[in-house]
Parts: sequence; structure tokens; C-alpha cells
Amino acid sequence: MSEKTVFKRIVDREIPADVVYEDEFCLAFRDIHPAAPVHLIVVPKKEIRSAADVAAEDEGLVGHLFAAMAKIAAQMGLTGGYRVVTNSGPDAGQEVMHLHFHMLAGRPFGWPPG
Ligand code: AMP
Repeated sequence: MSEKTVFKRIVDREIPADVVYEDEFCLAFRDIHPAAPVHLIVVPKKEIRSAADVAAEDEGLVGHLFAAMAKIAAQMGLTGGYRVVTNSGPDAGQEVMHLHFHMLAGRPFGWPPG
């Protein structure tokens, strides 16, 4: 059996995280190396390795994550908007193999990203 990822360990509350939101299906916590004034990691509790591993049965779950992010943004008063990023695979620089969305806010972001 493969080892649990750090995000699965956070979901299972085996290691601490600064959790800002939780519901039945997902968890959001602050990134330990923030790239913006607000930098959250939003993860499904279900183990899915990356965006490339999202199956048809996960479509509702992924929609749920976006609805949760909208709720978090409203709760945190992110009136200037926010950016959602997911890194999938080595070229994108994915480090943690548990599907996650970076939710970034609190400053303007350039485009295209690096
Ligand atoms: P990536 O897999 O490249 O999309 O990014 C993984 C992100 O997880 C990085 O921004 C890390 O700073 C962040 N990270 C890694 N370990 C933790 C942790 N224990 N708590 C919060 N964020 C983490």
C-alpha cells in the first residue's frame, strides 16, 4: 500500500494545519509557504491523485469544491476576487499527489503565469 500524502494526513488530522473551512467532502487550510496574502489549499477528503485522475464519478465532487471556494471567499470577504490553480503532473510542478486547488487572493496576479 502506498504511503499517505501529507494532505491525506491533514484530512485525517494526523498532522496539524490551519484549517479555515471543512464540510463532509472537503477541507481548506492555509498553505505553509504562502504565495499571496491569502493562500489556501482546498482538498477533497477522497483520495484522488491529481486533476488528471478525476473520473466521471468525481464530477459532482469537483463542482462541490468550487462551490465551497465561493463560500470561503464570501466568508473571508475576498471582494477583489481570487485565483484558483491546480498543478497536475511534473511539468506543472505538482508536489503533493492528492488533488488540490490553490486559492490565492489579496493582491493582483499577472497573466500568463510562470
Ligand atoms: P503543488 O503540489 O505544487 O500544487 O503544491 C503543494 C503545496 O502544498 C505547496 O504550495 C506547499 O507549500 C503546500 N504544502 C505542503 N505541505 C503543506 C502542509 N503541511 N500544510 C500546508 N501546505 C502545505
